[in-house]
Amino acid sequence: MTNRLDHLTWNDIDQRREMSPLVIIPVGSCEQHGPALALCTDTERARAFAELLAERIEPLALVAPTVPVGVSEHHMGFPGTLTVNPVTFVQFVFEIVESLARHGWRRMFVLNGHGGNDAALGVLSTRIMRELPDICFAWSGISPLVTDVSADHSTSVLRGHSCELETSQAMYLAPEIVRSDRLQAGTSERSQLTSQAALSRSRRAIHYPLPYDRVTPTGALGDARSANAELGKLLIETAADRLVPFLVEFASSEPAPPAASISTRAGTTS
Ligand SMILES: [Zn+2]
Repeated sequence: MTNRLDHLTWNDIDQRREMSPLVIIPVGSCEQHGPALALCTDTERARAFAELLAERIEPLALVAPTVPVGVSEHHMGFPGTLTVNPVTFVQFVFEIVESLARHGWRRMFVLNGHGGNDAALGVLSTRIMRELPDICFAWSGISPLVTDVSADHSTSVLRGHSCELETSQAMYLAPEIVRSDRLQAGTSERSQLTSQAALSRSRRAIHYPLPYDRVTPTGALGDARSANAELGKLLIETAADRLVPFLVEFASSEPAPPAASISTRAGTTS
């Protein structure tokens, strides 16, 4: 049985609505991923991981079509990267959620393969809380679920994009998008940064975002040469182990009742 919404007919979906109260919406990007990973890396990781999750909790979840372009302004210095304005991204995903709500779904989970979408997803959750209060909405990334495992198995000081960890995930989830003959070290030591790039990463709580081409000449942060499918399996299966119990519980969670006004709640008159 497939769990992909767009691979079913409307009659199938009509039957699945009862047993699949949750829809996972994968979102990715079309952006440079260094010399060895295809532009669809985030999209393919999100799609494949969403399908793996749906299979683990079958038949509780359907997987919506993957959003293939995200907020990638910071990668536009590299050919082929596509980006949309964060406002467009929020609007597009909002309308997917709204479409599903019109067909009766009340629990939606966005699985995000691209950290650049995070800020927009925060805005999206606020919009959904305000405009679709009878929807239960949650989201997560993939790598943020396993930062401890990543720290234990990484070889680079600087990492986080097309590095040994992301490349390993891709090798496990979508090996066809990895050019294994082109694996090379990206910017992986602080000493390789320009003074501006070093300043932008000098203090954890201060945000000084720079376009990626000012941080790394190859587009990669980390060292993909130590990537392997076994590490990818460990990262992905651990992330799934941590997300599955949440999704099972989330699939039966009820939307919060509408917020009461202070006077109603207190039972007082003005
Ligand atoms: Zn990525």
